[in-house]
Amino acid sequence: MLAPYAVHEAASRGRRHPEPSATPRSEFQRDRDRIVHSSAFRRLEYKTQVFVNHVGDHFRTRLTHSLEVAQIGRSIAQMLEVNDVLVEAITLAHDLGHTPFGHAGQEALDECMKEEGGFEHNLQSLRIVDELEEKYAEFDGLNLMFETREGILKHCRPEHWVRLGDVAERFRRDLRPSLEAQIANLADELAYNNHDIDDGLRSGLLTLDSLESVPIFARTRAEVQARYPGLERKRLIHETIRRMISLMVLDLVEESRRRIAEADPACVEDVRRAPPLVQHSSTMREEVALLKRFLFLQLYRHPRVVDMNRRAQRIIRELFAAYAADPSLLPEAHRRRFAEKGRRALADYIAGMTDRYAVREHRRLFGLEEAF
Ligand code: MG
Repeated sequence: MLAPYAVHEAASRGRRHPEPSATPRSEFQRDRDRIVHSSAFRRLEYKTQVFVNHVGDHFRTRLTHSLEVAQIGRSIAQMLEVNDVLVEAITLAHDLGHTPFGHAGQEALDECMKEEGGFEHNLQSLRIVDELEEKYAEFDGLNLMFETREGILKHCRPEHWVRLGDVAERFRRDLRPSLEAQIANLADELAYNNHDIDDGLRSGLLTLDSLESVPIFARTRAEVQARYPGLERKRLIHETIRRMISLMVLDLVEESRRRIAEADPACVEDVRRAPPLVQHSSTMREEVALLKRFLFLQLYRHPRVVDMNRRAQRIIRELFAAYAADPSLLPEAHRRRFAEKGRRALADYIAGMTDRYAVREHRRLFGLEEAF
């Protein structure tokens, strides 16, 4: 039961390399399945979200983060009667291009690639599904549907518009992506804002007392405590966070419904020309801004996280410099790609590493110093 403004497979712009249809699966189901079977997807298991992968087994990784985003995104899509399978495909692929060590790793790699146009994980996600996966006999990449690829490309600077062609067209023409892509984007934020509180508390870097300064958390926690006096800490945290996720999802659905009704799109093209239709209410936007600010100051800028990031960046920089100076250190396939494609091939190789592989590789090249 898809609304008329949802992405309908029959109206898709299709794949770059035409393929026979995938019945009984839909084409977007096929995209989702190709993403799940990709090697970049498997490697998300050992990549950092906030905490370096091997510091604890209970923290989110890029993989579990992506699964949470997919779950939240699908629920929102179903409530808005749009294509939840497309949302699932976009969300499962959205972080494929992440370097090891999260945003710290990306900053370091971007710096290494300054002369070559930089490095951006979002562009890299598209590059993986368009070019880097080597699985199929007839094409490079996963040959995904246009709408899936467009959803993956969340931002795009003007210097990439021409090279990327149709998938970047909406940036050139200042149009919005599908509602499915808009949902994937908001579901990502909604998931990490909530699970980073949970991981922050679990790590001991955040305390329940400090979170009292975040209004939506304080209010929700008080509600849970009033209903379940004396509830043990672990359950209190979960009951609070799950309520916050519900509040945010329901607010998003309600406000988006209101905006969709007002814009009254008859098809995806109308969605593209409208202002962003998937949005929180202004009240919730303020709540979320306060929460993000708290996380930024108390968690992402916590001295222990900053220290971890500094070590991570050193690993990336030193690996890059070592390979660039002596390509014989590279595995053979990557040595060949480096000879053909230059430093971009090094960025592809390093970005594809898991946290633990990068640490091991650094130890191999630079000796036994314990990195973390
Ligand atoms: Mg994400």
